[in-house]
Amino acid sequence: MSTKLHTKFYNNNRLFLMIDPNEEISQNDPVRVIDGIVEGLDLKEFEKLYKEKGRCAYDPKMMLKIILYAYMNNIYSCRKIERQVQRDIHYIWLASQERPDFVTINRFRNRVKNEINNIFTQVVLLLADRGFITLDVEYIDGTKIESKANKYTFVWRKTVEKNRAKLQQKIHMLLQQIDEVIVQDKAAGSDVVEFTPEALTSLIGELKDALSSEPVPTDKEQKEARREQNRQIKELEKHRDKLKEYDNRLEQIGERNSMSKTDPDATFMRMKEDAMNNGQTKPGYNLQISAENQFITDFALFPNPTDTLTLIPFFNSFLKRYGHLPSVAVADSGYGSEENYRFMDQAGMEAYVKYNRFHIEQRPRYKPNPFHHDNFHYNADQDYYVCPLGQHMNRIGTSCSKTASGYRSESAIYQAQNCKGCPLRRLCYRAKGDKRIIEVNHRLNQYKRKARELLSSEEGLRQRGRRCHGSFI
Ligand code: SF4
Repeated sequence: MSTKLHTKFYNNNRLFLMIDPNEEISQNDPVRVIDGIVEGLDLKEFEKLYKEKGRCAYDPKMMLKIILYAYMNNIYSCRKIERQVQRDIHYIWLASQERPDFVTINRFRNRVKNEINNIFTQVVLLLADRGFITLDVEYIDGTKIESKANKYTFVWRKTVEKNRAKLQQKIHMLLQQIDEVIVQDKAAGSDVVEFTPEALTSLIGELKDALSSEPVPTDKEQKEARREQNRQIKELEKHRDKLKEYDNRLEQIGERNSMSKTDPDATFMRMKEDAMNNGQTKPGYNLQISAENQFITDFALFPNPTDTLTLIPFFNSFLKRYGHLPSVAVADSGYGSEENYRFMDQAGMEAYVKYNRFHIEQRPRYKPNPFHHDNFHYNADQDYYVCPLGQHMNRIGTSCSKTASGYRSESAIYQAQNCKGCPLRRLCYRAKGDKRIIEVNHRLNQYKRKARELLSSEEGLRQRGRRCHGSFI
């Protein structure tokens, strides 16, 4: 007895009806948001990237829409985007049934990589226009992103400088061995301290000319001497090439201390993810992001591993992008330096920026160390400190230091009159000598006091809370 399955009719060779995406895609689908945003953008900058002749290119608006929509869905691979454009109705609708392949998608992405920054600014300004953000406050934080480069491709500035200096010595010694007459004329006799690859190239040329103008060696000794001279010139050429390589490396490293051979823009730094737990440095970038109301408002990549040096350039990036600085800045203790506080103070910003010991001071069981100079009584009128034993510590000088960015910081130096025989000596300080010396940066202390007041205020607590979860991604 034959039984018929109780299922719906299935035949994939039947005629398909046209699907209307307007019916299939709901009116509040995110794909429509992407479509609306890109339609409202000014893509004039893209026009210069296209030729007026040749085969028609895909509309850049369409390409931008599918790439942004793919990124929004965590799809970054060009091959996967290509697949989506062929299969997914949302992509099919965005692309209007065009089917760019992965090569085209990748080429477009590379072509517009400089202009995409401008697109980002336009989108943020659109958000500000619609009232989602004010662009008046920046919640700042940073993270390290690892480069694709291998972790063993490091080049350290100090090593290159050391090897370069050794090479210069080798070149000097070699030149002393080479034909003395020529060398006296061209190199050793002169006051050349540093050889450059260009100077060596011209010197090698002259040495070769001098050798070729000499009579052809006849006896065994002369032939041996000629072979030796040729060998030395070859060695000099090798040294010249190595010197060129060192110079190139130093130029690529620039102000940094390290770089990766295979990704010269990446700097070696410690990452948060340390699987081996050995503090190994890896090639990467320091990505700084500012956010407001869960929208990213600015971003920048820096080669400095520490956040302190990135804050001012990051504010300048915001200024360049939007034409003004925010009036409120909120950041963690990694940014609390004298230089940064001063910049924000002079720019009239309300700085909810922590300093390094702020968290410790906030602990319920925190007890100030009575032997730390921050807790000594200070007489501002007569400029002296009073130590725990009651001795006056008078000012004996000023010390200056410079940060990596060139900012000059000043600290006042105070000295106790006599610590010999003091019953508190062992608790007070460990350094040698019978007169305790302390260094105090008054300007930094002033900024810290102001930051503490702001951070502990009602508004400060609100801003700190928003930075942690509400306004930062
Ligand atoms: S050791 Fe010197 S500075 Fe410290 S409490 Fe004694 S006298 Fe004062």
